[in-house]
Amino acid sequence: MDHKEAKNQITRYKRLTELSTRVSSTLDLSSLLFEIVNAAADLCEAEEASILLYDELKGELHFEAATNMDNPLLLGFTVPMSSIAGWIVTNKQPIIIKDAQKDNRHFGNVGKSVNLSIKSLLGVPLLSKDKVIGCLEAINKVTGEFDEDDLEILGALGGQAAVAIENSRLFQQSDLISEFVHELRTPMASLNTAAHLLGRQGITEVQREKFIGMIKSETYRLAELSTSFLDLAKLESGRAQFKAELGALLPILEDCVGVMNNRAAEKNISLTIHVRGELPEITADRDKLKQVFLNLISNAIKYNYDHGQVDIDVSSDDGHIIVSVKDTGPGIPDEARKGLFQKFYRVPGTERLASGTGLGLSIVKRIVEAHKGEIRVESEVGKGATFIVVLPLNKNG
Ligand code: ADP
Repeated sequence: MDHKEAKNQITRYKRLTELSTRVSSTLDLSSLLFEIVNAAADLCEAEEASILLYDELKGELHFEAATNMDNPLLLGFTVPMSSIAGWIVTNKQPIIIKDAQKDNRHFGNVGKSVNLSIKSLLGVPLLSKDKVIGCLEAINKVTGEFDEDDLEILGALGGQAAVAIENSRLFQQSDLISEFVHELRTPMASLNTAAHLLGRQGITEVQREKFIGMIKSETYRLAELSTSFLDLAKLESGRAQFKAELGALLPILEDCVGVMNNRAAEKNISLTIHVRGELPEITADRDKLKQVFLNLISNAIKYNYDHGQVDIDVSSDDGHIIVSVKDTGPGIPDEARKGLFQKFYRVPGTERLASGTGLGLSIVKRIVEAHKGEIRVESEVGKGATFIVVLPLNKNG
């Protein structure tokens, strides 16, 4: 190595230290992955970089972040284990490939979806305590070819990145788990009380029915809490997978209304969809969108008065579909609005109207944002609330 090369290498290691500090101080998983891919492209002078994480339970590899990923639906995309990334993970070995197009392990689908033609590639496994958690790839060296120096520096970054990813996952889990355990206490205490009362001598038949009803509703609440908790844990840790399917949105809304009709009828609430003009097709994960609208419609019924109304309005503008779910319930006071999308938050006073977990809207927000959409709420106290979801059509998805 001549003097100039040595100096160059020192500059790169300095940059590595700088970038590693940034990476290790980021705890939010999606920001962290974004920091890592940017650092990888920067250090290796590559056009792009990407991260794939390995799901040990399923034995699958998922595409999780890339420098050029403006299509959020690629998140969680499954990449076959027979691909180059799969080879890196299976063999726990780094690899340098001069021309990916000539390599029969090359899996072109991800590159195609982001309009990237992959030529040269450098990949390293992400190892945390000897366990492989995924791989980090630098794609298309800007000038020349990837060499051993690039490999060494990407390997060093990969080592730091793997630890940071594991830390971020643990941090998120412990945060969510402690809140979850805290939330379990109320239904468990109610169950205990009901069981105790049920065991008392001389209770009337009416009281017995009441205590059994209490047990049923609290167990239902526990089940609901567990399902929502698992959904949210998956979304927060980046393990949720999103499919990109092109199709009409209206049938999804009609399905949701079909599911919710009985609940609305029990409270004599009218549930209507209004379609404004022609609606373009949208690329989205249909099951996840269904979860979004089921949640919003269910809330609009739950937090509504008997004989009220729920109106679902669908329209489109250039590049978006806009869905609003409007109810005639008590509405949401201004000061409660910022807490609304936080985990376990419930607007004071609404507990009397309906049981709930306070997790639904956090899940909704995560799903909408994974589609690069937005959600907001408008409300005038006493006149109901309107939740508005704006979804981009994701035409290139
Ligand atoms: P859950 O309904 O299970 O409690 P969500 O996360 O869906 O959880 O909602 C959080 C809180 O926001 C609810 O507990 C309720 O206080 C409030 N909220 C949600 N939707 C409405 C609505 N349409 N009108 C009034 N308050 C609402």
